[in-house]
Amino acid sequence: MAILSEEKKRRYHQLKELLQNYSRQYYIFDDPLVSDAEYDSLYNELLAIEQEFPYLKDNNSPSQQVGAKISKKFKKVHHEDRMLSLENAYNENDISDFFNRVHKLCNKSDVDFILEPKLDGLSCSIIYEKGILIMASTRGDGSIGEDVTSNVLTIQNVPKKIPILESVEIRGEVIMLKKDFEELNRQREANNEKLFANPRNAAAGSLRQLDPSITASRNLAFFSYYVSGYDLKTQQDVLNHLKQWGFTVSEHLLLCHDQTEALQFYKKIEKQRADLDYDIDGIVYKTNDLSLQKMMGTATKYPRHSIAYKFPAQQAETTVLNITVQVGRTGNITPVANLKPVTVGGVVVSRATLHNKDEIEKKDIRVGDRVVLQRAGDVIPQILHVISDARSSDSKPFEFPTRCPCCAAPLIREKGEVAVKCINLNCSAQLIERLIHFVSKDAFNIDGLGEQNIKFFFDQGLIKSPVDIFYLENRNSELQLEQVEGWGKQSVANLFSSINRSKNVTLDRFICALGIPQFGKTASKLVAKYFKNYKSFLQSIETKNLSELISVNGIGLSMIDDIKLFFTVPNNLDILKTLGGDISNRGLVNVQDVQMTREGILTGLSIVFTGTLQHLSRDEAKQLGENNGAKISSSVSSKTAFVVVGKNAGSKLEKANELGVKTISEEEFLKMMKKTI
Ligand code: AMP
Ligand code: ZN
Repeated sequence: MAILSEEKKRRYHQLKELLQNYSRQYYIFDDPLVSDAEYDSLYNELLAIEQEFPYLKDNNSPSQQVGAKISKKFKKVHHEDRMLSLENAYNENDISDFFNRVHKLCNKSDVDFILEPKLDGLSCSIIYEKGILIMASTRGDGSIGEDVTSNVLTIQNVPKKIPILESVEIRGEVIMLKKDFEELNRQREANNEKLFANPRNAAAGSLRQLDPSITASRNLAFFSYYVSGYDLKTQQDVLNHLKQWGFTVSEHLLLCHDQTEALQFYKKIEKQRADLDYDIDGIVYKTNDLSLQKMMGTATKYPRHSIAYKFPAQQAETTVLNITVQVGRTGNITPVANLKPVTVGGVVVSRATLHNKDEIEKKDIRVGDRVVLQRAGDVIPQILHVISDARSSDSKPFEFPTRCPCCAAPLIREKGEVAVKCINLNCSAQLIERLIHFVSKDAFNIDGLGEQNIKFFFDQGLIKSPVDIFYLENRNSELQLEQVEGWGKQSVANLFSSINRSKNVTLDRFICALGIPQFGKTASKLVAKYFKNYKSFLQSIETKNLSELISVNGIGLSMIDDIKLFFTVPNNLDILKTLGGDISNRGLVNVQDVQMTREGILTGLSIVFTGTLQHLSRDEAKQLGENNGAKISSSVSSKTAFVVVGKNAGSKLEKANELGVKTISEEEFLKMMKKTI
């Protein structure tokens, strides 16, 4: 028998205390101290010790409890059937074990399962008597929950009446949509209130309010997945009835009996996760047959018939190795944290932007700190907060540099600005960033002239301004680029041909390439649409009439200040004219006029693209749609005229089918636009 060392015993009690404390913070105060991933890893460590030394475990152990003690603020509600947790699976082996266990318990190997997303909110039980909602409560510790009836009555998609006379209990998850969560936090930030860590805590904090009018103002939603008190045979029946009675039920479901099929579904939903309107943290596998469910019964805190296959954590902890600052193309100084590499949601992260000086000060992020990192969908990882308990006593606040790390010019911060800037126009870090931007995808889009090559040409003194790019080929007889290491005849020829191709540039890309602060892709399109051709754009600059842009929807005063300021720098105006030409001279490039939209075909219609297109890039397809008057939208709604569906289309296609929105293939779209492939 293994011997329990003093150290392990101490660790066990420490874990118990930590977990109890964390879970109280999470369930009672809706304000978690640690990430879910950190909680799970401590919890699993505790389980491992208990498995080795079962006598340590008592009723007080976090492994024996569901949720936490309830808050005294609310009236108590006794749950007739305990509200249980779900066992977690973290990998395919855990799922295999689960399948085997169910097959064994049911004594057969063809059991149907139903798969549902695990919604990340808080569970709620609602009782209906004679069709009327009479009571709603939280899960609490599983046996006793909190009475939140008046609050649940304010949730719009909870039916207050249902068309049956039986007394039933409905369970489901109260959640907050991601967009409502973001809006709520924006408001709270503006009012200097504490921000919610994630939509789940926001949902919990909003439901567990003594004043229902606060709940009402928070836009919560309820997704249901359970009925008791009504004679039904399967979980599929449950979901169908819930829908009929007016409840919202997840639209992503799969009935299957095969593990491979189940895994495909898990992977498919994981891919769509970032695009869903609400947070989910895994897939729940449930035995479909309710009599089998009953027969299998429950372990201490889990039903044996179901399991939650969790997605890899989107949050993780790591250490800040150091903090460096980068100089952007407009001279803005951006601090970046270099991190000890850590996997977050399946991706290794070693850097996170710290945005600006204020952000570092606000979060008090220091070199050496343990921090919690979050990755939401495809968004760049961000540091949520520092774990201050873990900070060493000799740590010092980060000292923001006072001079540019590239050119040593003193950094300045203008009144009302968040950014600290290097204002030396010849700062080479800025020159390089501007060149990188100039050739980037939304600007001149020059293939073969990426970041590395720009740096190479800059260091060689061959490209110092955008103008030099277009002289490169002429100068090559003296430069002999093909002789340079890393280059050959073919790659040099390719480079020159992409530079030449890029000379035919649309006005919006041309404006975007200039790198005027606040004039990225979208704003540049607006300006281009307004001026229609290069000549009128130039004229407006030369006659100092740029203020007229204020009439364009989407262009504000501070943007106009930026564009004016940009052209007061003589060098910027020179570059513009050398590239685009002036009244009497042609420029190095050919700026195309804005295509007038063809009235008629798609004017007034909103269309959506989904999946991978075969003949057009996404940008080209959008451009084509726009040129024909369409408004391109990124999400499907009942107002969408049609959806163009490419290969491997996902949730947008499902949404279109659900709403009965017309779908067409890429080929049909091209035909409609009178294009041949
Ligand atoms: P946990 O307490 O995190 O171990 O997981 C159990 C909880 O998952 C339940 O109490 C529900 O609140 C929640 N849950 C979310 N989605 C579902 C679902 N589709 N089916 C069952 N439970 C769900
Ligand atoms: Zn500088």
